[in-house]
Amino acid sequence: MHESAIKAERSVRIQIVEDERIVALDLRAGLEELGYEVVGIASNEPDALRLARHTEPDLVLMDIHLDRGSDGISAARKLREMLAVPVIFLSAYGEPETLKRAAEAAPYGYLLKPYELRELNATVRMAMVRRAVERKTEEGERRLRLALESARLAVLELRADQSGHHLRWVGQEAVPELLSLTRAASLMELSLGLDARGQAALQALLQVGTPVDITCAWTSDGEPARWLEIHARHFEPEGLVIGMVRDVSERVERENRLRQASVAFDATDEAILFLDGDQRVLSCNSAFAQLTGWSVQEVIGHQPDEFLFARRQGDAVREADTRQWHGEVTCRRRDGSYFPALQHFAAVVDEDGRASHHVLSFADISEIRQAQHALHHQAMHDALTGLGNRALLQQALQGIDGPVALFFMDLDGFKTINDTLGHDAGDDLLKQVSTRVRSLLRKDDVAVRLGGDEFVVLLRQTAREDIALQIAGKLLAAVARPVTLELSGPQGPILQSVLITASMGVALYPLHVDNPHTLLRAADAAMYQAKARGRCRAVVFESAMADVASHRLKLEQGLRVALEQKQFCLAWQPVVDLRSGRMVGAEVLLRWIHPEMGDVPPSRFIPVAEDTGLITAIGAWVLDEAVAQAAAWRAQGLEELRVAVNVSVRQFDQDDMPNRVAQTLMRHRFPAGLLELELTESLIAQEVSTEQALHRLRALGVRLSLDDFGTGFSSLAQLIALPMDRLKIDRSFINGQAPEGSAQAVVRSIVALASGLNLGITAEGVETLDQQQWLLSLADMDAQGYFFHQPMSADAFAVLLSRSGAPP
Ligand code: C2E
Ligand code: MG
Ligand code: MG
Repeated sequence: MHESAIKAERSVRIQIVEDERIVALDLRAGLEELGYEVVGIASNEPDALRLARHTEPDLVLMDIHLDRGSDGISAARKLREMLAVPVIFLSAYGEPETLKRAAEAAPYGYLLKPYELRELNATVRMAMVRRAVERKTEEGERRLRLALESARLAVLELRADQSGHHLRWVGQEAVPELLSLTRAASLMELSLGLDARGQAALQALLQVGTPVDITCAWTSDGEPARWLEIHARHFEPEGLVIGMVRDVSERVERENRLRQASVAFDATDEAILFLDGDQRVLSCNSAFAQLTGWSVQEVIGHQPDEFLFARRQGDAVREADTRQWHGEVTCRRRDGSYFPALQHFAAVVDEDGRASHHVLSFADISEIRQAQHALHHQAMHDALTGLGNRALLQQALQGIDGPVALFFMDLDGFKTINDTLGHDAGDDLLKQVSTRVRSLLRKDDVAVRLGGDEFVVLLRQTAREDIALQIAGKLLAAVARPVTLELSGPQGPILQSVLITASMGVALYPLHVDNPHTLLRAADAAMYQAKARGRCRAVVFESAMADVASHRLKLEQGLRVALEQKQFCLAWQPVVDLRSGRMVGAEVLLRWIHPEMGDVPPSRFIPVAEDTGLITAIGAWVLDEAVAQAAAWRAQGLEELRVAVNVSVRQFDQDDMPNRVAQTLMRHRFPAGLLELELTESLIAQEVSTEQALHRLRALGVRLSLDDFGTGFSSLAQLIALPMDRLKIDRSFINGQAPEGSAQAVVRSIVALASGLNLGITAEGVETLDQQQWLLSLADMDAQGYFFHQPMSADAFAVLLSRSGAPP
């Protein structure tokens, strides 16, 4: 012990600062004699500092008055502050002023020269002992500081005296997150930054000594709030409060986040499974239970693959070691039912980069799927009827790989029903027709509404024309059955039965066209032929019809200029008394001589004129021209006769017919009683305003006849209600176009009906003597037909007129 102490003394390394060389050397010799090691001698302040920095001595013996005016006290202060080296002053001066200044450098001793060697030795040894004690304290403090730092703690010390509370912080530099707190220089400042809980706790501690153990918020202006954990106690004997503060913001925020997450976990609609590293269920939320029907107990410890997925998508996920994955899966409920889900899968990775847990969440996307499905359906279907639309047809045509038959169906006179009974009724009719069409088809046949009253049916695996025609017949018959529509009347809904027919074009691939995409055009052309041939029929495509569609466009364009270019003229067909053959009148028939196409038959262009609305102007011209001509002949004194003018239903929609007729008659001073207007049966479906127009026409004295009678599906009740004078029996019943037996039955019943209703009859299309004879056997009536006269020019007719006798 003694030995080691001496050794320690011997190892003390001393620096000498002395400007007098002799004194310095003498001192060194003395020190070495005492067993100390002298590390060097400096004679002024800068040298002293440099040497000390270089040699790191245990002690410096410092002369106060140094070379070149430098000051030992100042040097000592710097040595102490910068290098913490203890200093002992050696000085010849001991007056109070010098001592006072020397004290500021906190020396470890002060020896007045001249001193004795053993005096020096004692002083050096005491200084070293003191230094050792200080070192220990410093070490303790350093340890405390390190402990505080590693615990992220700041210590506060509050001491009260008469002048108030003094606040002191320890360790604050080491905990930068507490800097805003530890900048608080007074109790007041500290208290102000704390939240209400913190302030109350601090008050209680200071006033009644209640220990503080709280977590509270601290805010200082401009900085985000921090969460502090504060523990503090009042130590009575010392009158001291000592406490520690830790910044726990991260922990508090993590706890908050966890709390929020757990609320979200339970409140969300999304099913969430929390899995361990092996993807076994640790927990699940209530949405999971609700969505799948599995309870927590049933799934815990199991892998979702075992119970949740319809297909084993989970494998793919694991194989790829995917940490993040999302996509669509099909999930299975506890009851075995399936639902589509959008799944998110995420691994929770620990510090070593291993997936310690997994989170599997998924949402039921049935509704989205349904919406998508609905959207797709909407894009491919007609909203009104639920049939397919043009897009669906296009798709179907694209996928054709075998023989198919395409039916293009257009309702006859639908526009009239729509215009007169209203759009609701029209829609209702379309819906009912659609249902009927659909009910005749197989599942993979395609039924489409192209728009308006156009329907298309596509039959797969149909190669033969006769079979296609058979089906066409079924479709047409289905459409032709009476349709009951609900109309809104003033006293509530009225049920009205209407009859509608359809015209149909049929085309087959590969029989008629070599590309499925031209099927539609071919069937369309055939449909126009069906219209042209009198509607209410199916016509199979022939190659000659290919041009029909473009032909129709040409017709439409031609019609627009026909009136002004005076391409129209009238033909006159005499109407005779069937028995005597004497002329009783004439029907005016419109003729169109197109500069290129030549004579275009009315059956071709009247429907186009009706569709385009051009019929109104054309019809007005026909009326004026016919009445003008008849008036002229009358003025010439030729035989007075009944002039029959054909009028289209569409003219009633767009023109004030009674007014136009009255004006025309007035203009040409022609008696109303000699004018007969021929209307087609479709007029019967007309609304009240048309019926009123008919009554007004009758009131003028004009006669009305129902043309082409028997071809439509007239309702007797409505027929009786109309102000009619005459029925014209359609020529198909007369000249054998209609099947023999039925034609005769129809004619018989028309004759009976007319006589019952007291209506006149004109038989159209009488071509043979036989026909004349047979009709005569039924009743007396008027007639027209090639058997008597062809339609002829006005000039030819004038000749005929002038030759004939007096009016009957
Ligand atoms: P419609 O009113 O039934 O006219 C009678 C049609 O029968 C005329 O045909 C006439 O030429 C034809 N015809 C007359 N006698 C015979 C016969 O013995 N045998 C045969 N097979 N046919 C005969 P057209 O001139 O081709 O007129 C066809 C249809 O066009 C007319 O049928 C009528 O509905 C319509 N139409 C003609 N002119 C006009 C008009 O100025 N305005 C309107 N809206 N329609 C008209
Ligand atoms: Mg006619
Ligand atoms: Mg007719």
